[in-house]
Amino acid sequence: MDSRRLVTTRRSVVGGIATAAASLAFPRPSIAQSSARVVVIGGGFGGAACARALRKTDAKLQVTLVEPNRTFTACPFSNEVIAGLRDIEAQQFNYEKIAAAGITVVAQAAARIDSQARTVGLADGTSLGYDRLVLAPGIDLNFDALPGYDETVAEKMPHAWKAGEQTLLLRRQLEAMEDGGVVVLAVPAAPYRCPPAPYERASLIAHYLKARKPRSKILILDAKDAFSQQRLFENAWKEFYPGMIERISLSQGGRVVSVEPATNTLVTDFGNYDAQVVNVIPPQKAGRIADVAGAVDKTGWCPIDPATFASKLVPNVHVIGDACIGGGIPKSASAANTEAKACAAIIAAQLTGTTPAGTKLEGTCYNTVAPGYAFSLSGTYQPRDDIFAEVEGTGFTSPVNATREVRKREADQAQAWYKTITVETFG
Ligand SMILES: Cc1cc2nc3c(=O)[nH]c(=O)nc-3n(C[C@H](O)[C@H](O)[C@H](O)COP(=O)(O)OP(=O)(O)OC[C@H]3O[C@@H](n4cnc5c(N)ncnc54)[C@H](O)[C@@H]3O)c2cc1C
Repeated sequence: MDSRRLVTTRRSVVGGIATAAASLAFPRPSIAQSSARVVVIGGGFGGAACARALRKTDAKLQVTLVEPNRTFTACPFSNEVIAGLRDIEAQQFNYEKIAAAGITVVAQAAARIDSQARTVGLADGTSLGYDRLVLAPGIDLNFDALPGYDETVAEKMPHAWKAGEQTLLLRRQLEAMEDGGVVVLAVPAAPYRCPPAPYERASLIAHYLKARKPRSKILILDAKDAFSQQRLFENAWKEFYPGMIERISLSQGGRVVSVEPATNTLVTDFGNYDAQVVNVIPPQKAGRIADVAGAVDKTGWCPIDPATFASKLVPNVHVIGDACIGGGIPKSASAANTEAKACAAIIAAQLTGTTPAGTKLEGTCYNTVAPGYAFSLSGTYQPRDDIFAEVEGTGFTSPVNATREVRKREADQAQAWYKTITVETFG
């Protein structure tokens, strides 16, 4: 089978299946001597980077990437799209270069996993065999954890926590809002995708409103007391958007317990809040296919051995990205990317019977508060007990009293980071 192509038709997928089925019918040579089959589910920051890194590490590996969408829409910088600072096209990537790198890209959703037979069932009823499976399905929104909120209600009260149409919907709602309106953001308790992103979003919405609808206000209803880079955000809000952003923390009654879409109302333990624009960021969990695979525990996320990313619940399965329980390393594209590369190196080493190098992850997260003004958080992480823990002395947070030049430099670095990570992931 020519793996250098983008598999887009049922026919060509079936061709791939025939090959996979034939290889199962004969005694398999030892994996060390053959081209082992690695299937990666999810073509986002974790999965696509892992597929590429696997091929790069060992060109003999048969790597298949399973992803239903032909266009991936990235979340990092999507808050700028919401604020009208950037077009959605700057967020979008396809899989052509990944296919050109020798990876078989299957444009299907994975629907079933049989860990005994080591097969992935696809949405069209066909299946793929694997020696190793990497799960990188990202998050699903946990609608069960927020009464009143579901996919239909999200058409009225967008989450915009998976980038794409939801991002544009929130932008349109802000554009349609009258000056003097209130925008409410409901922020969940940790863990969730990209801990500082709700506060970056509030900042950039404030930037938009300050220029276009200056009598408007933003209210953050938060299910936490403290948040990542809080002082940096709050100082910047005072400087750029005085009086525009109010935050009600958990202990002040900020946790949203249900949603009433008919009146655009958010209900907390201490009172109800109506607004013209309501951005509900609901609690989250690992992407559903991880649950179907049996890789999810009662937390809603996937426990792994951090030294190998191996699922603690399903053999021959590795989990990376937002779906896994990472511990100290925040759920981010940066984390998914570093996990992807480390996981690829481990799988390649294990399949050839060599000893993988110790896992060391590095991540950096940038937050933009206004155009040309950003700050960052970075660290190095290593396995400790069951999670990744920050290596002492490696954590860096931008100083609270940095000059405008430093903030501008960090904003430029954020742009460069996005370019690097997306080229590394999608080519
Ligand atoms: C507003 C916002 C801003 C952010 N900003 C930043 C930032 O500045 N820096 C940063 O590092 N991170 C940022 N993030 C976080 C970042 O987007 C995620 O952490 C990252 O995308 C996680 O990568 P992933 O591979 O785990 O999941 P994803 O990138 O979401 O990829 C998952 C993929 O799996 C696919 N999939 C799901 N189910 C199946 C299935 N059954 N079969 C096949 N495929 C499937 C999906 O279609 C998707 O393409 C931000 C997030 C948000 C919401």
